[in-house]
Amino acid sequence: MVGAHIMHNYDFIIVGGGIIGLSTAMALGTRYPSARIVVCEKESGWAAHQTGNNSGVIHAGVYYKPGSLKAKFAQAGNRSMVEFCQEHGIAHEVCGKLIVATEQSELDQLEKLFQRAIANGLPVRKIGPAEIREREPHVRAIAGIYSPTTGIVNYRQVTEAYARIVAQQGGELRLNTRVDAIREHADGVTVETSTGTLNGRFLINCAGLHSDRVAQAAGVQTRMKIVPFRGEYFETVPEKRHLVKTLIYPVPNPNFPFLGVHFTRMIDGTVHAGPNAVLALKREGYRKIDFSLRDFAEVMTYPAFWKLAGKFMDEGLKEMLRSASKALFVKSMQRLIPEIQARDVIPTHAGVRAQALMDDGTLMDDFVIIDGKRSIHVCNAPSPAATASIEIGKAIVARLPDQPHLNSTLHTGVQLAAEAVR
Ligand SMILES: Cc1cc2nc3c(=O)[nH]c(=O)nc-3n(C[C@H](O)[C@H](O)[C@H](O)COP(=O)(O)OP(=O)(O)OC[C@H]3O[C@@H](n4cnc5c(N)ncnc54)[C@H](O)[C@@H]3O)c2cc1C
Repeated sequence: MVGAHIMHNYDFIIVGGGIIGLSTAMALGTRYPSARIVVCEKESGWAAHQTGNNSGVIHAGVYYKPGSLKAKFAQAGNRSMVEFCQEHGIAHEVCGKLIVATEQSELDQLEKLFQRAIANGLPVRKIGPAEIREREPHVRAIAGIYSPTTGIVNYRQVTEAYARIVAQQGGELRLNTRVDAIREHADGVTVETSTGTLNGRFLINCAGLHSDRVAQAAGVQTRMKIVPFRGEYFETVPEKRHLVKTLIYPVPNPNFPFLGVHFTRMIDGTVHAGPNAVLALKREGYRKIDFSLRDFAEVMTYPAFWKLAGKFMDEGLKEMLRSASKALFVKSMQRLIPEIQARDVIPTHAGVRAQALMDDGTLMDDFVIIDGKRSIHVCNAPSPAATASIEIGKAIVARLPDQPHLNSTLHTGVQLAAEAVR
């Protein structure tokens, strides 16, 4: 400290070393090459949570409401992700994907999805049973949509590449550093971490499953809470990998923000089926038995959760049953590939989604970014945020007050992203 002024060790302090924190650091380093940037990650490696436990799909942007941030960022992100992988030699494949209807009752919803994809400007095509069989011989379906620009990648590898770039740009990367407390003051932020106190001009919260708590710690009102939804996967045994050539998705339930159990050929050649969506009893609870009293009590005492539970009682119960019963999980798989049997799949990893539940009981579908006085908080970055990570990073930098590390022109007050349209 010098007089009344706090010494700024950093211009930008980023909380969270997932794909969004590191893409933001990379975008900041590109925009402000002389800025002093630090990324704080509580785990001992990058991409330890959502980013490292996802389906590895480079989404095309089929599902998202035209005009939403998701629609905008997914399409641009699909291109920038593929270009990034090409430029940095990261294994990826633009293998295309099928969304298939297996029953007449799904045809209306499939048509709506097709119209949405067209409205989003995507090069999708409707295909019939013959072409479906040609592309995926083991799938039985009556109609489908083919999306040629969907691809696959390992997002952990992408995130590690972002981290290398941030280091080359001169950014500081602090693993094993948990952010515990944040104080915004007139000319910056003071951040207490498990490895010491940091002072900065500006903070960017990309804390995923803890983003609401980090925002609260900075004194920012979010009008939402993160509710953790675990997504469990099965993996096919090696002899059955031939059942899936690329990516096979069902027609999703339009009232639910998740895509339904699908088959994914991963970039390492393994084939995964999942994820389901069950309420996790711990924010970073990857196993069914994981439980945190604090996390669980927070959900149970949040009135919005009970509004949500009222609306989705049926779906919620079905998901819980499917999580408990392999036979039910396999039944979801058999809707797409009838010949798959329980003995063909074994349980594999799980991921936990950080899903924002708004105070009014709605599951926030779109990305949500909230401004504090000396901070920006990414409070809802669900799928396809990994696909869109380069675009989200750039958008966060564009959202910053004018050169915040050089002067103090600031956004004031707390503002819910107006663009967060449903
Ligand atoms: C099951 C599943 C499947 C998905 N499939 C896809 C897909 O196929 N394609 C796609 O595009 N997207 C997919 N997604 C979404 C995608 O993975 C996420 O949108 C993306 O990874 C979000 O990145 P993030 O950096 O915001 O969060 P995270 O990766 O969760 O990173 C947040 C980081 O912040 C750290 N952190 C939290 N609190 C603190 C603190 N106090 N101090 C320091 N560090 C802290 C955490 O340890 C964590 O590493 C999927 C997600 C899940 C869960």
